[in-house]
Amino acid sequence: MAIKGKKIWLDGGMYDWDKVFIHPVNQSLHYGLGAFEGLRFYLHHEMVAPVIFRLRDHTERLFNAVKVLGLEIPYSRDEVSRAIIETVKANKCPEGYIRPLVFLGGATRNFGDLVLVENSEMGFAKVSQVHLMIAVWPWGTYLGSEALEKGIRLATVAVPRPHLSHAKICGNYPATLMTKQLAMKNGYDEGLQLCDGLVAEASAANIFIVKNKRLITPPLSLSILPGITRDTIMTLVIDLWVHAIGVVEERSFGISELYAADECFLCGTAVEITPVREVDNRTIGLGKAGLTTKKLQEIYFKIVHGESRQYAGWLTEVR
Ligand code: PMP
Repeated sequence: MAIKGKKIWLDGGMYDWDKVFIHPVNQSLHYGLGAFEGLRFYLHHEMVAPVIFRLRDHTERLFNAVKVLGLEIPYSRDEVSRAIIETVKANKCPEGYIRPLVFLGGATRNFGDLVLVENSEMGFAKVSQVHLMIAVWPWGTYLGSEALEKGIRLATVAVPRPHLSHAKICGNYPATLMTKQLAMKNGYDEGLQLCDGLVAEASAANIFIVKNKRLITPPLSLSILPGITRDTIMTLVIDLWVHAIGVVEERSFGISELYAADECFLCGTAVEITPVREVDNRTIGLGKAGLTTKKLQEIYFKIVHGESRQYAGWLTEVR
């Protein structure tokens, strides 16, 4: 589908959105052997150019995921970061989402203004060429602005956690999509996965609860993705004492503790900070966004739009 003016970066070249092709005989497509990232860029409150949130950390996580797969990105961290900035610039979009993807394939061939990644050799022992593609698209609030304000309804679903879930690997994501689909089929906004009966994470977001003025989130040892938004929240709470809370307890908890929480919220690049007002038909707290959640949201949105000098280092200008 042609999207006018949209560009995709592939292996060092910038191409029109509808001129990039990948042969379907491809190891990554068949076996999920790839890794990706998801970043957001926002309008800066006083600059014309947008800013990318925590670019260095997302790039680092991409390199980690590729390492877990036993592969190597054929670019340096600086080159990948620069390519991400160039792609945002080329798309001339003020706010949106960035999707870098590392995948396998045969040689990259140009045919006029078209580019084709040729078939890769199939077979598990064959390692083909490692490719990097970066796409950008406009993306407003993931679950709608009402969700950000009033909170969402969350359902626990019986989808097992993937084994390599510390790394953002393509093969992990059927579990994510199934979680979301099952929850939505049952009339909920989002799904929540458990790990051995303990609360793990939502479909593409980490989870926090507040109980008796304590902020609690599942530990990384529980096979969850080390979310960059999760880390952002932990940093903010320690630095700023948000709503008189100055520490985050990283510990396991079950659904009974979740049902009885005073507040609950999801966090992630896509969902940003989204309050949860109900879990499995149980009202959480007062059934609306809690005060700690709202305060964190307010700080978060100021930071991503460049309204905080203290956290300006998390932003990369797209000049
Ligand atoms: N868990 C999963 C499975 C995810 O895909 C994401 C989105 N990357 C998150 C949590 C949240 O991570 P982040 O805050 O880095 O976007």
